[in-house]
Amino acid sequence: MLKTTVIGLGAMGAGMAGNLHRSGMLAAAWNRTRARGEEAAQCHGFTLSTTLASAAQCADLVITSVSADQDLLDVVAQLAQAMQAGDIVLDTSTTSMETAQQAADLLAAHGIHFLDGPVSGGKEGAEKGKMVMMVGGNEKILQHIMPALDVITRKVMHMGSIGSGQATKAVNQIMVAGINQAVTEAMAFGQHTGLDMHKVVDVLSDGAAGNWFLQHRGLTMCQDTFDPGFKVALHKKDLHICQQMLTDKDIRLPVVEMTLVHYDRLLESGYGDEDISALFRLKKTLFQ
Ligand code: NAP
Repeated sequence: MLKTTVIGLGAMGAGMAGNLHRSGMLAAAWNRTRARGEEAAQCHGFTLSTTLASAAQCADLVITSVSADQDLLDVVAQLAQAMQAGDIVLDTSTTSMETAQQAADLLAAHGIHFLDGPVSGGKEGAEKGKMVMMVGGNEKILQHIMPALDVITRKVMHMGSIGSGQATKAVNQIMVAGINQAVTEAMAFGQHTGLDMHKVVDVLSDGAAGNWFLQHRGLTMCQDTFDPGFKVALHKKDLHICQQMLTDKDIRLPVVEMTLVHYDRLLESGYGDEDISALFRLKKTLFQ
């Protein structure tokens, strides 16, 4: 059986580690901030490793879930020293394609395999083991780690070479921006009209406008609750990646540009660590 370690026990990593632990596949787990790691360990009943190196040394497969590009490169540099040739690193963070390639090159110098496997499905998907994963890299290596992925995902798609998982995730993040814009604006409009928003979410979720974000964030936004979820600051990071993929071509995407302006406003007001549904805060002001 594959021995798996999870590095990074945030909103996504904690759920992944929990599901791997329940299936008997979790060899170790580590988080940079110990208190947060302890919280995840207690919640799911696994033991927290004291160092990244000791966590990585127990496993054939290390799954990383960290915030941004430089964080992944820092973690990968440490994994390269701790792991053995033939071991595998699967990164589920959202990064640029270039960072995925740099991580792969760094590890390849030590004979360690790398796959970029960004995910979608939110914190709820990670907790329920129902994420979807888009993977770049060697398909045989992907097949080898499928027993672990079966526990944390409901769908895995091999997209092509290293970086193609992240390119697919960039497509997803543009859609998420548009959905966030549409749902928060429409819900602020609905609330302004005085409708029963429970009924609005219930009935519209089953029609043509139904979507994951409406179902999972529709009611909480109307109650002015914006617990992450997916942090505004992280989605901003992802939309910058999408922008950078287009810089040479002088192309600007309206949904990306508009959402970045809105996220900057939320960050300036101190809402960067809230869920992206906090965009509802700005939409509500349109009706004042
Ligand atoms: P999060 O709750 O903010 O957690 C981030 C995790 O990364 C924490 O465990 C943090 O450790 C760790 N970390 C950050 N920098 C690090 C470093 N330099 N070295 C070691 N650990 C580091 O974020 P999240 O929502 O779980 O997201 C994780 C990744 O998945 C991001 O790339 C995000 O874009 C992506 N993602 C998120 C969602 C979502 O709905 N939340 C969905 C799909 C993909 P500390 O506790 O020490 O800060």
